Amino acid sequence: MLQPILKYGERMLHQPATTVDVITPEVLALITDMVETMYAAPGIGLAAPQIGVPLRIFVVDLSLGRDPAGLITMINPVFVEREGMQLEDEGCLSLPNFNATVARPARVVLKGLNRDGVEQQIEGTGLHARAFQHEIDHLDGRVFVDRLRGIKRELIVRKIRKLAKSGRW
Ligand SMILES: [Zn+2]
Repeated sequence: MLQPILKYGERMLHQPATTVDVITPEVLALITDMVETMYAAPGIGLAAPQIGVPLRIFVVDLSLGRDPAGLITMINPVFVEREGMQLEDEGCLSLPNFNATVARPARVVLKGLNRDGVEQQIEGTGLHARAFQHEIDHLDGRVFVDRLRGIKRELIVRKIRKLAKSGRW
């Protein structure tokens, strides 16, 4: 089922999510909703808190659903390695129409569980590395603007406040 995506400013997006203890049918249904919602948006990644569920789960698919092998589901992901640096433009489904250049490590290795509860280790470079870090940030209650400094961050936050005030956010 498609779920509404929370926007910047809603509390759930700004607080850390909790570890998944057991992969229940409810968790599997949540993952299905996340995948559907991500493809419909369309987006290349979505974290559970973005649809209002404070659990440490994200989905990423750079192929936007075109390649069945492209879908990555990560439950309780943690970093194993992080190295290098990349500077690229970044956006977020929770901040529609905003983007900014964000510095991120160029390569990461993550481990976590897949939807069958099997431990998996995944390496990501380039956009994959960026997407994984962006989604783990969501699980830690952080969005990409929180990684910006000074005036760049202020500008976006101020615009969002203005939109919110006029009921357009
Ligand atoms: Zn995001």
